[in-house]
Parts: sequence; C-alpha cells; structure tokens
Amino acid sequence: MANQRVWTKEEILKMWPQAKGELQGFQRHLERNAGITASQLGMALQLADEEFSRLKGSPNPYQDLIDKVCSALKEDFVRFITTGEGTNVYLSHVDHCPKCQRSIEEVIKRQATAFENLARSLRDKSSRK
Ligand SMILES: [Zn+2]
Repeated sequence: MANQRVWTKEEILKMWPQAKGELQGFQRHLERNAGITASQLGMALQLADEEFSRLKGSPNPYQDLIDKVCSALKEDFVRFITTGEGTNVYLSHVDHCPKCQRSIEEVIKRQATAFENLARSLRDKSSRK
C-alpha cells in the first residue's frame, strides 16, 4: 500500500469521529451493492470504534473487579485478564482466597458473554445476505 503510515494516538482521537461517519456512509453504499464486503467492513468498524473508546480512556470493563482483588495481586490479575496467564504466586494465592476467586469467576463469565454476543452478531450479519 502506498499510503501506509502509523497514526499517533492524538491524530486518531482527533480524526476518528469524522472517519467513522465517512466509513459508515461507505458501508451503506457497499451494503446496497455487495453484501459480504459490507459485513466485513461493519465488523472492522465495530472493532475500530471499540479501540477508539479504549484509547479515549473509557474505563476498563473489569475495573470494578480489579478493585476487588487483593492489592498485592492487582498487577497479576490484570495480566491474567489480558493474557490468560497467571504466575505461581498468583495462582497459589487465588487457590486460598475466595475474594479473588469470585473476581476471576466473574471475569470468565463476562468474557464468555462478550464472546457469545460477538458470535451472535457475526451469525446475524452472515444470515442477512
Ligand atoms: Zn485475594
């Protein structure tokens, strides 16, 4: 691609709201003319918009759970949420701490729900051709 550049966070924050509107117009145009491409663009738009919200500093969806785990565990807990990996200290603590266990169960539940919602919206999109 000729025009490949890396955008800074500031540029994205400034330009995304307008870019999103233009992309949505493009999406509607595609939807009238070519089904599958518009669905893919819709997905990309959704992901980009979520990333935009994240960049803008919207709160972590698990912040309430992060607040609830033992303070010594917070950093490990965040790593566990994002990578699924837990250190030995973390795992042996969680084994004996009902409070931290409850937070982890809630994270897993929310991730499963988010995944189901995504799967459902992908299904809806592909059956709407
Ligand atoms: Zn704990």
